[in-house]
Amino acid sequence: MEGRRVLHIPISSNGRFFSPAPLKKRILVTGGAGFVGSHLIDRLLVKGHSVVCLDNYFTGRKENLRQWQGTASLEIIRHDVVDPILVEVDEIYHLACPASPGHYQSNAIKTLKTSFLGTFNMLGLAKRVKAKLLFSSTSEVYGDPDQHPQVEEYNGNVSCTGIRACYDEGKRCAEALAYSYMRQDKVRISVARIFNTYGPRMRLSDGRIVSNFAAQALAGRGLTIFGSGEATRSFQYIQDLTSGLLRLMESSYSSPVNIGNPQEISVKSFSTLVLQLVDEFGNIERLDFQASVSDDPSRRKPDISKAREQLGWYPMWSLFDGLTETIFYLRT
Ligand code: NAD
Repeated sequence: MEGRRVLHIPISSNGRFFSPAPLKKRILVTGGAGFVGSHLIDRLLVKGHSVVCLDNYFTGRKENLRQWQGTASLEIIRHDVVDPILVEVDEIYHLACPASPGHYQSNAIKTLKTSFLGTFNMLGLAKRVKAKLLFSSTSEVYGDPDQHPQVEEYNGNVSCTGIRACYDEGKRCAEALAYSYMRQDKVRISVARIFNTYGPRMRLSDGRIVSNFAAQALAGRGLTIFGSGEATRSFQYIQDLTSGLLRLMESSYSSPVNIGNPQEISVKSFSTLVLQLVDEFGNIERLDFQASVSDDPSRRKPDISKAREQLGWYPMWSLFDGLTETIFYLRT
């Protein structure tokens, strides 16, 4: 028998072969053609799950999923979450909603409908097919915070009449809906409060700080800073976010969890880093300071103790490495 390997194949009580492989699920990702959704779908498909992507292409793009063209385990449905739909799935990642201020403010009423009716429809679906639902909320539920860093128990400082209200109040209402379904109808939910995230597949025209700075620097122009540049931001790389979402879905923890990178950097220092990475010869010199934007929070930084304790999650990507990947993508 020397040199011969014996293969042990576990056999179940009914005599059939038992596969030790992890359970493959059928998973719905709303907003799956968008920036976050497409990266999440990449990871779910690599894990061997079967994915249904649902998107109305308001801000999402088919190209974001082109790498999976012809893959039998990915089904893409053009659909608006404002309208109900029935699909048999085990899990729902509900991400559908424009995330950049330019996009969500361009049709504020539609943004509110997407937040409320979209989440209502997805929770109704989760209840009907007994799926677990993960809702992608946002750090914007904290508004312009007067507490730093933000813990999940902080109730926020939000304006229900400001131009961001369609988004942040929409998300707050959607969270309230999710917890009502959990208490009343026993729907299993998770709520991720996502902080500023960047990475490949962001649009250069996205209108948020990372793509704005990168677009200006790549075009050889000076960078526009709104305000004094002393405002701080914390930036999370997309791979860290998708890891956090996967862990949150696996966990049975149902209270909101901040998923973000607590490393704080001033807007001015961030602009300098972008310039260094885009323009290694230092040809771009100017920073153009403009009046600050209405309703723009001056500071935001997550307290991620809950994510560490409950999920064993914390960010792994440095700003330098993540930005290098992102600028490489945007350049090419
Ligand atoms: P995105 O705009 O790239 O993606 C949103 C996707 O949802 C797009 O594909 C869009 O076409 C789709 N969509 C929008 N409205 C829809 C509707 N009514 N029906 C069906 N599809 C619809 O944005 P993103 O950055 O990928 O954000 C995804 C989610 O994460 C959003 O819910 C957003 O609020 C949340 N989030 C993102 C960030 C971030 O920094 N990217 C931060 C906080 C929260």
